[in-house]
Amino acid sequence: MIELLGRTTEEIKALVAEHAGAPAYRGAQIAEWIYRRILPNLGGGAQATFAAMTDLPLALRNDLTALFSIGSLGEPVTQSDPRDGTIKIAVPLHDGPRVEAVLMPDTQRVSTCLSCQAGCPMACAFCATGTQGLGRNLDAGEIVAQFLALQSQSPRRITHAVYMGMGEPMLNLDNVLRSIHILTGEIGLSMRHITLSTVGVLQGIEKLANEKLQLTLAVSLHAPTDELRRKIVPIHRTYTIDRLLTTCKSYFDKTGRRVTFEYILLRGVNDNPEEARQLAALLKRFPGAVNLIPYNPTSVGQSFQRPETARVQQFRKILEDAGVTVTQRKERGQQIAAACGQLVTEAYRPPAGARKLNVA
Ligand code: SAH
Repeated sequence: MIELLGRTTEEIKALVAEHAGAPAYRGAQIAEWIYRRILPNLGGGAQATFAAMTDLPLALRNDLTALFSIGSLGEPVTQSDPRDGTIKIAVPLHDGPRVEAVLMPDTQRVSTCLSCQAGCPMACAFCATGTQGLGRNLDAGEIVAQFLALQSQSPRRITHAVYMGMGEPMLNLDNVLRSIHILTGEIGLSMRHITLSTVGVLQGIEKLANEKLQLTLAVSLHAPTDELRRKIVPIHRTYTIDRLLTTCKSYFDKTGRRVTFEYILLRGVNDNPEEARQLAALLKRFPGAVNLIPYNPTSVGQSFQRPETARVQQFRKILEDAGVTVTQRKERGQQIAAACGQLVTEAYRPPAGARKLNVA
């Protein structure tokens, strides 16, 4: 069986011409069904079929059914938080591991948070996914399938996608880029509404810079000194903040896009005024902004603590007074363990037979 999800219209045209002898316009119809008609409206559990593509001749539909498949994800288990409309799905991959994705509706936008790996090898000290180790890379179809599964559960059209779920996008860049091209080219998302977040894999940032995409690059900085960053972000043992910032500056020079620096606030670890001043000094003249993320407690791994609100405000003020642009991550989905860094499928096993869990 040849998988069609994760392929562009042009690729689908070529595949159905080659294997089913269908004219090119049939391929375009099939892509239309897959990306814009069936999958965004499917609802949890249902399987997309060629039989439903009613403007194709019956014989062709039968041939397609024998030759091709549309998406390989299993039935998602859904948790929703009625207070803020957040929905988290855990979806099994065909070979067993589960990945999670999140829908976050807001007044102005509807965002999705997508996973690009099952697990993650980066092992950041505070991150739940990092305790799992790497299961495997997802292919583009498996990434796009998360988006479409969430769209099918959302009454509103999804407008934004962030690659901030499970995994490190730069370690699976080819599949991530392919999925981005499907989201923009086939599903109609704006490139400017896509954010790719990396722990700071330098070769990946360099490679992405050469693509010259108008998406937003977010870099998980989390510490203003090499010594501190080495303690909480293991990959930092292999380079320095100076090199990381040089790479980010060259990313800006090549793409014209300002970089966002994510900074998780861990009480007593990196949230002191001293660190705020050091961070301000680093980024004062940098074409970028800081996104503060107060730590979300997780059920696994080392125990860190979230700083008090006043502490967060103090940190923010020091940055702003130094002229650094600061945004603060809006907290969503904490009740259903759907917030940043909380995605970990080991800790999330639904009772047998359960399809829908609602956390009141
Ligand atoms: N691997 C990518 C994407 C991962 S998650 C990266 O490292 O950027 C997206 C963001 O959530 C990262 O900035 C990550 O460091 C942060 N994060 C991880 N665990 C968290 C937690 N428990 N609380 C708050 N943010 C967390």
